[in-house]
Amino acid sequence: METPVPDYLLEVLDTCGDSREGMVADYIPELATADPDLLAVALATMDGQIHAAGDAGHRFSIQSISKPFAYALALRDHGLDAVLASVGVEPSGDAFNEISLEPATGRPRNPMINVGALVTHSLVGDPRIGREERDQQVLDGLSAFAGRALDVDDRVFTSELETADRNLALGYLVRSYGVTTADPEEVVRGYTRQCAVRVDVRDLAVMAATLAHGGTNPLTGVAVVPPWVARQVLSVMATCGMYDAAGDWFSHVGIPAKSGVAGGLIGALPGQVGIGTFSPRLDEFGNSVRGVRVCERLSNDMGLHLMGTPATGAHVIRRHLRDGERQRLELQGAIRFSGAEAVLRTMAEIPPDVREVTLDLSRIASVDDVGRRMLLEGIRRLGLDGIAVELDRPDYLDPDS
Ligand code: GLU
Repeated sequence: METPVPDYLLEVLDTCGDSREGMVADYIPELATADPDLLAVALATMDGQIHAAGDAGHRFSIQSISKPFAYALALRDHGLDAVLASVGVEPSGDAFNEISLEPATGRPRNPMINVGALVTHSLVGDPRIGREERDQQVLDGLSAFAGRALDVDDRVFTSELETADRNLALGYLVRSYGVTTADPEEVVRGYTRQCAVRVDVRDLAVMAATLAHGGTNPLTGVAVVPPWVARQVLSVMATCGMYDAAGDWFSHVGIPAKSGVAGGLIGALPGQVGIGTFSPRLDEFGNSVRGVRVCERLSNDMGLHLMGTPATGAHVIRRHLRDGERQRLELQGAIRFSGAEAVLRTMAEIPPDVREVTLDLSRIASVDDVGRRMLLEGIRRLGLDGIAVELDRPDYLDPDS
C-alpha cells in the first residue's frame, strides 16, 4: 500500500486553497513579483520522513522565519544569560517592524520582531569575527537546520537592502541605548542577507522538525543545537512567533510557529512533527492567509494542539495483580511525571504484609528522567518497608538506556 498522508495533504490544500484574501508583501519590491497563487505544504517527522504537496519545489526567501534559527545560533554561541541581557522574551503585541523596546533598558522585547532580530543576528558567532565570517556562520547554521546547503537570493537581498530605511533606523536606535555596540549598517546588511536565504517548504519542515526534535536534525542526525536551546526557541515561537496575532494563533492552532513576509510559515510540534507551508498573500498581521488555514486544518484534523494533549497518567498502570503476599504491577506507555505519580500512589497503597512486588516494565514505551527518578524512589521506599521489588526489564531504569 501507499501511505495516505500525501493524499491527505493534497486534500488539505484543495480545501484551503480557494481563498484569494490578503496581499502579497510589496514593501520589499522584489517580493511583489511573487506569484500569489502558489501554495505548498510539507511535513517532516521525527524519524526523518518528509511528505509534501502542492508547489513544493518552489523556492522563496525565508525572511522572518530565519529569526528563530538565528536566535538558536546566538543562544548556542553565547548561552541564555548573555542573550537575555540583550533581547527579552516578552510578546510585544506590536507589528514586526515596530520600535518595541523596554522603556527602562532599551532592550528589544523579543527576538521575533525586527529590532530584536537585528541584535540576535549580531550575536551569532564570536563578536570579533568579520562580516563574511558571520554571514557564513549564519548560512551554515540555517543549512544545518535544513539538512542541505542553502543559498542566498541576491535579487531579494539587494532589493530589501535598498529599501531598508526602517530597519536601519531600528538598528541605530537600539545602539543608542547601548544594548549593542555593533555597527547598524553592518548588522542590517547581514540581517537582510539572512532574510534572503532561499528555502522551499521541505526545507522549512525539516528546520521546524529539528527544533521539534530537541535540536537534532532528524534527516542528517546532526545535533545542530542542544535540547535546552530548542526548548527556549520553541517557547519564544509559541508566545511571539506570529507577531501581534500570536495569542489568537496559539489558542486556535496551538503549535509554536513563525511566519515570514514572503509567505512562508513553520510550525514545530515538540516530539511530533515539523510543518512548512508557503502561500504569498498575507493578512493584516503579515501572516500567510492560506498558510494559517492549512495549519489550522492540520491542527484540528490531527489533534496537534499542544494544549490538547490528553493526560496519560491514568493509563500507565496496565494491571495490578494482588495475590496475597506477592503482587504484580504492570506498567505501559510513556512514564513521565503524571504517570509516575500514579504509580507511586499505587505503590503507597500496597499493604505492609505484602512480601514481594514484581514491577513489570517490559511494556513501557519510554521513561523520562523525572519518571525514572520517581520510580526508583518508590522502589527504595518499598524496600524500606521490607517489601522486595523485583524488576522485569530493569534496564529501563538505567539512566543511560
Ligand atoms: N526582512 C524582513 C524585514 O526585515 C522580514 C520581515 C518578516 O518576514 O516579517 O522587514
